[in-house]
Amino acid sequence: MNTTTISGAVFRGPRLPLYPEELRLDDPRPGEVRVRMVATSVCHSDLHVVDGEWARPNDVVLGHEGAGVIEALGPDVAERPTAIAPGSGPGHRVGDLVVLVWTAPCGTCPACRRGEVWLCATPRGGGHRLAAEAVRVRRPDGTPIGVYSGVGTHATGQVVDAAAAIPVDPRTPVDVAALIGCAATTGVGAVRATAGVRAGETVVIIGLGGVGLAALMAAVDAGATVIAIDREPDKLALASLLGAAHVLEPGAAGDVVRLTGGGADHAFECIGLVATAEVAVDLVRPGGTVTLVGMTPQGARAGIDIYRFVEKGKRLLGSNYGSLVPARDVPVIAADVVAGRLPLGRLVTDHIGLGDLDAALDAMRRRDGARRVVVF
Ligand SMILES: [Zn+2]
Ligand SMILES: [Zn+2]
Repeated sequence: MNTTTISGAVFRGPRLPLYPEELRLDDPRPGEVRVRMVATSVCHSDLHVVDGEWARPNDVVLGHEGAGVIEALGPDVAERPTAIAPGSGPGHRVGDLVVLVWTAPCGTCPACRRGEVWLCATPRGGGHRLAAEAVRVRRPDGTPIGVYSGVGTHATGQVVDAAAAIPVDPRTPVDVAALIGCAATTGVGAVRATAGVRAGETVVIIGLGGVGLAALMAAVDAGATVIAIDREPDKLALASLLGAAHVLEPGAAGDVVRLTGGGADHAFECIGLVATAEVAVDLVRPGGTVTLVGMTPQGARAGIDIYRFVEKGKRLLGSNYGSLVPARDVPVIAADVVAGRLPLGRLVTDHIGLGDLDAALDAMRRRDGARRVVVF
């Protein structure tokens, strides 16, 4: 088995610093592809792991929001005919720009058979290993290293399941392609697929990080009237620029009821805080829909007034990975970026290096900016 030398940031345990180290990467096996990473970001789901809020194994290359270029196909991976554009048909080619997705559906579990592939119970790359607990990454001394959610994007290269590498329009900016791997898809899908926002509806977005801003763009694109809530004036200014009709600081959240004449049709909680999830329930009209998108620490529980919730006939939804089918919907989001419908480039606060991950996580703890993207 040939190996390639890569540089990757390994999670060694909660609250320990992340820094790139030299690693060995095996060649792809059947069903896998090797990618050269072109961009990756840090997401709250990485932060939850680093801060010890989500229990995950040590010795794993973190990162699950990334994009790469295919360098090698595993022995039996279908090669796409040149006549078919990337993302518009099946198969992969060396040189494809690919968005890496952190749920590569197994295709056979009950959720996959229902078509709800984002709920796949046994995704390829689950358990932070490739198929059959297999390891493709090792330290020079032979220590096996896992890959977070089967993609481990905080590295200069990676071997992933072919189903986790979705070819997209090569004109997609690489930093945006990385964000489509998680934040953008999560926010856009919550609006389009989970909640099904329609033109003319009123939408309140709580929290304007990467996910919340992506949700805002999708709601504006859908023709909805958007009210955005955040505590950072810079983010509210950006929300206005992106088409929000009203922006509010958290203390004024109750104004949503006045501005919408009785409550919004939809509320999206995009932070992952118990308090804002509870507020979201109060901001929708009778019959309105609350979609929870932000992820809390494991075990967090919220309280709602059940009598009023039932009396007002409200609906509460959870949105995982935007309820999207990656192979079908990721190329569509990329195409919408190229066509100018989704200005996801506005999510990029800064370009950084692989050695700056700790600083980027710190900025995220301060809720400073949307996304800092490592561009290789
Ligand atoms: Zn994420
Ligand atoms: Zn499945």
